[in-house]
Order: sequence, then C-alpha cells, then structure tokens
Amino acid sequence: MAISEYLKRVYGGTAEEYARRAEEAMERGERLFVVTANPEILMHGERDPKIRELLLSETAEIVPDGVSVVKAMNMLGLPAKERITGVDLAGKLLEAAGKGKKSVFLLGAKEEVVSTLAGKLRRKYPGISLRFRNGYDGDKDQIFEEIAALAPDLVLVGLGVPAQELLICRHLEKFSKGVLMGVGGSFDVLSGSKRRAPAVFVKTNTEWLYRIAREPQRLGRFWNNNVKFLGAVKKAAKK
Ligand code: UDP
Repeated sequence: MAISEYLKRVYGGTAEEYARRAEEAMERGERLFVVTANPEILMHGERDPKIRELLLSETAEIVPDGVSVVKAMNMLGLPAKERITGVDLAGKLLEAAGKGKKSVFLLGAKEEVVSTLAGKLRRKYPGISLRFRNGYDGDKDQIFEEIAALAPDLVLVGLGVPAQELLICRHLEKFSKGVLMGVGGSFDVLSGSKRRAPAVFVKTNTEWLYRIAREPQRLGRFWNNNVKFLGAVKKAAKK
C-alpha cells in the first residue's frame, strides 16, 4: 500500500478548525475516533495489516501530527496547513469538556502522573465528571469494556503508538458516542511531570530534536521511522 493512500485521508485544515470540529462532535454526542498520525504510525501501517486497516477506515479521522507529515502531504500535492499535535488537541478537548461539564475518562501513564492530571482538572473545572486508570495495571481490554459501559463524552488513551490506537479500534463499536483519541505521552506533559519543549522548539517545528536530546534512547526509533517515511514519500511523489 502506498503511503499516499493514508496521506490522502489526513485532515488539511488548521489545528484551530479541527479542535472546533472535535468539540462540536463532543457537544452533539457523536462518536469520533481521532488518530494523530506521525511518521511512526504511518510506517507501522506499511508493515502491520491492522494499522493499515485502521488508517484507511472510515471510522477514524486522521490529523497530521508533525511537520514532516504536513510537508509530505504538500509534496504529494495534498492540502495541509499545519501540524495538529496530540498534546495540543488533548488540552483543548479537556478544556472544552471541563467548561461544558462533560464526562471524561483518562487511561494511561503512571499512576502518579494520571492522578496528578485528574486532580488538576478537577480543581480547574469543578463540574467535570472524571475517571482515570493508569496504563500499567490491569487488563486493558477489560478496562476498555468498563469505559464503554460508562459511555464518556471524551476518552483519552495515553499508552503509546500504536497500542493505544489498536485498543480503541478493538472496542470502537461498543461506543455510540464520545470523542476517542490516542495521546501518547501527553499526560506526562499536561500533568506537569514532564516539561514540553521550550516555545522556540515548538515554534520552529523542532520539538523532536528537543525530545531526542532529553531522551537519547528515542533516537533509534525516530531515525528508523522518519528516514523510512521520507523514502516512502519520495517514492510516492515520483509516481
Ligand atoms: N505507557 C503506559 N503503559 C505502558 C507503556 C507506556 O501507560 O505499558 C505510557 C507512558 O507512561 C507514557 C506513554 O504511554 O505516558 C507513552 O509515551 P511516549 O512519549 O513514548 O509516546 P509517544 O507519544 O512517543 O507514542
């Protein structure tokens, strides 16, 4: 499957526009599964049929999580305005859920991280109905059955790519409403446990560089996926 098939499905509007779209879906009680696509998950799609199916499925909306995805889309002549990161979108959706007194479920990260985030949100938005589970204890599929039974308005899953997307996908049909999204390490940042890159890195689209400098063990994974991604995009652009 050519990478262009996935990229054709990726949202091309602004982060602001997409956040509004997702907030409206939450407000109207619709079901929306959002996949924030970085080169890593797009390359997983090349080798894992389940991810491929997910990336091509009508039930998932895909947003470009990373400047390389935006550039790749532009190289293929596809419209893409800017990157839409999981952490920003998660922050906006939590704010909307808090202000609208919605029900939220957070699954993932270490117990102290997710409980700190839950405490912060409850203090900031007293009307919010919020439950959480850490990402290390218990059977995830069992937990997801319980989440589906609660039918929350917003479900954020921070277990890392692609486990979080596959988990949501396995249970999606049990949800009749709710915005569901995999958020990677966003709980670490939103809770204040891990610092996000300083503004200069965010503005210049070099956040990846900051993350690698802080956590050098990421380099192998990053290099592998990004170099392969670039190769796949160049091949697709020649066609
Ligand atoms: N995590 C988890 N359970 C696991 C493995 C990971 O809850 O069994 C969490 C981890 O604590 C972190 C997130 O998943 O909060 C993954 O973060 P990372 O930055 O690696 O994700 P990425 O955004 O790169 O996919």
